[in-house]
Amino acid sequence: MQVISRVAELTELLDTFRRSGRRIGVVPTMGALHEGHLSLVDRAAELTDLVVATIFVNPTQFAPTEDLATYPRTFAEDCTMLEKRRVDIVFCPQDTEIYPPGFSTFVEPPEVARSWEGRSRPTHFRGVATVVLKLLNMTRADVGVFGQKDFQQATVIRRMMFDLNHPCEIVVAPIVREADGLAMSSRNRYLSPEERIKAAGIRRSLLKARRAITTTASITGTEVTKIIRDELLISQIGEIDYAVAVDPDTLEPQTKIQLPVVLLVAARVGSTRLIDNEWIKADA
Ligand code: AMP
Repeated sequence: MQVISRVAELTELLDTFRRSGRRIGVVPTMGALHEGHLSLVDRAAELTDLVVATIFVNPTQFAPTEDLATYPRTFAEDCTMLEKRRVDIVFCPQDTEIYPPGFSTFVEPPEVARSWEGRSRPTHFRGVATVVLKLLNMTRADVGVFGQKDFQQATVIRRMMFDLNHPCEIVVAPIVREADGLAMSSRNRYLSPEERIKAAGIRRSLLKARRAITTTASITGTEVTKIIRDELLISQIGEIDYAVAVDPDTLEPQTKIQLPVVLLVAARVGSTRLIDNEWIKADA
């Protein structure tokens, strides 16, 4: 496994591999890795010949009020974890390598970036879309693997790729969870032991809503929202940002539930903001 921090070195090395006909997979991350990230690396290794994992805490996707300065940085542990999987290159650039002096071009994200996370974090997807497009251009990867954990992010990226005729294939891999169902997240480490117990209520709320949807002939979006909210309140999760049933492509709320549907939740547990989702496909 090679660790590279310069764009020029990365592109040169990848050009050599590409010329020998090997397919390149990229997994963009912000580090503080867990099994969720590693599952994306494993998927990339199944689909391609050479896997690049990127570790870059992207400043443009954080608002000034957010946790950029305190975002967990565990580079040595990340490399140890990646080394045990089939990763060929770790790309870990400095901020100035990605945003050199005078940098001023940004992606205007698609419509699907406006709602939900976009409403709570108005500049977030502009930063995400810009850095993802840059990483895909630098690597000229054949496949980019992203997690369903950030459902809206994956939707924004898929739409951006379509709208901009980008040739890289986007693969969305399932959510990896802790034993009690909490979706793995780099931010889970901020939770106190009591908050950690409460946080498992998010998954319970989504499963309760899934059961209601798959067993009730006709159910409304409002009813689904109430099921999720009620379960979150039972788990003493009071600060709910949104709990909603949406169309998987447009992310528009569904008034009357029709499969496929995605349930999206964002809630604060203590001072930690957590997101999760449940994708109920047409054959559920
Ligand atoms: P992050 O480092 O949080 O920006 O995440 C990097 C990638 O890992 C994104 O595509 C996330 O959706 C994905 N990811 C984060 N948590 C999980 C998880 N629990 N299961 C699967 N993928 C995840």
